[in-house]
Amino acid sequence: MVPQPLPGRPGLVGVLALQGDFLEHLRLLGSLGAEGREVRVPADLADVSSLIVPGGESTTMSLLLGTSGLLEPLRRRLAEGMPALGTCAGMILLAAEIVDGRPDQHCFGAIDISVRRNAFGRQRDSFEADLDVDGLVLPLHAVFIRAPVVERVGPDVEVLATVRMGDGQEKPVVCRQGPVLVSSFHPELVGDARLHELFLETQPRTRKDHVRAL
Ligand code: GLN
Repeated sequence: MVPQPLPGRPGLVGVLALQGDFLEHLRLLGSLGAEGREVRVPADLADVSSLIVPGGESTTMSLLLGTSGLLEPLRRRLAEGMPALGTCAGMILLAAEIVDGRPDQHCFGAIDISVRRNAFGRQRDSFEADLDVDGLVLPLHAVFIRAPVVERVGPDVEVLATVRMGDGQEKPVVCRQGPVLVSSFHPELVGDARLHELFLETQPRTRKDHVRAL
């Protein structure tokens, strides 16, 4: 079922700002008229109503989640159903299982998928492709940089886009489960805000904005 946009505006969007390309996400949010906040310490989470986990290096982010004290508060908020968007390393951190992560690497289990890091092999570490994504009218130009693929999707996960691997198999690269949306690639790097729009469209609105929209 395609979720319908809700009236009003989304609340404050937290962007995990420990490492990676969080500034690009904040820029895209700005271009959509949404308010973003860098999240570096637990207090930054206080009034955010959703979270973006950027691309970067998931092992480093995992380490910094521990030292910043954000690991448990974030785990709690996500378990309570906070909407989240994860791109590339962000997808890895939001997944239920990392197939070949470091043994001490954390993931939040916010979406029922298993991901394989750096799945495109050495000769294809980085590539670009135009992808058909369910819910978007025109193809999305996707930049894959040492990207993960999804090896398993749970029964409640929708696959919105796939990519053909070297061995001919189609693997999911955009998935959604309820309020959690993830992509293997970096829409934030090409300045295409449509995946962010898709994410924001179905989020709970602030009460004030909801009233204003009626
Ligand atoms: N390979 C990286 C990791 O494991 C992800 C790369 C990216 O975010 N571009 O975290």
